[in-house]
Amino acid sequence: MKEDILQNLENINLRIVNACKKVGRNPDEVQLLLATKTVSAERIQIALEKGYTLIAENKVQELKEKYEALKAIPHDNHFIGHLQTNKIKDILKYDVTCVQSLDRFDLAEKLHQKLFAENKTIEVLIQVNTSNEESKFGVNPENAIELITKIAEFSTLKIKGLMTIGLFSAETEKVRTCFKILKNLQEEIIRRDIPNVEMKELSMGMSGDMEIAIEEGATIIRLGTAVFGARTLPDIYYWDETKTGE
Ligand SMILES: *Cc1c(COP(=O)(O)O)cnc(C)c1O
Repeated sequence: MKEDILQNLENINLRIVNACKKVGRNPDEVQLLLATKTVSAERIQIALEKGYTLIAENKVQELKEKYEALKAIPHDNHFIGHLQTNKIKDILKYDVTCVQSLDRFDLAEKLHQKLFAENKTIEVLIQVNTSNEESKFGVNPENAIELITKIAEFSTLKIKGLMTIGLFSAETEKVRTCFKILKNLQEEIIRRDIPNVEMKELSMGMSGDMEIAIEEGATIIRLGTAVFGARTLPDIYYWDETKTGE
């Protein structure tokens, strides 16, 4: 079990290096985030001990359950799931340093109010729905700049970049289009030079499409199954608005 995870991490490193080589990028520009939904704290620890310290949950409940067990090993907690406003207090309580799934104004506003009251700040990425699928969260690309401009006025929210989930498709070029949309949006936002907005991070690419994402400029790739093996719960449980289960 331990060997499997370590071997997987080695394979992933090779994949990162090869994808970077293909487009002349430096592999140090690509950070590996461990998407740990359904993965036990014990298994997550194996990767943390190996030096992979960026992890992310989709559900507050899982964050809570694994918090004590993981506390001893220094790491960075991001949040990549659909966040309901009534769970904001838990995000802060369990030391999430970046919400990658910020996709709507009311959530930003409530997050800001809570942070402001506690005299804290948090990093955020704006989640964009680049695949045009209804089941996926994220702001539409056409509305992203307006949303970002409004969110940028909240002093407690440090916008660091964009996040997307690519289309699930065997048609590589359709998947690539999603990542290009995110990259183009990043460039457009940089051109507009919006105060209080940094655009250095592009969080895109998962186990099945990480090479394409790296080729298109990903700075954070989010991997679950490639590291920990297949999950028993289908992803729709995490991604479909009607099945968020809380
Ligand atoms: C589950 C998940 C991932 C990782 O997916 P894999 O295909 O297992 O690598 C990445 N991003 C988000 C938002 C996820 O929910």
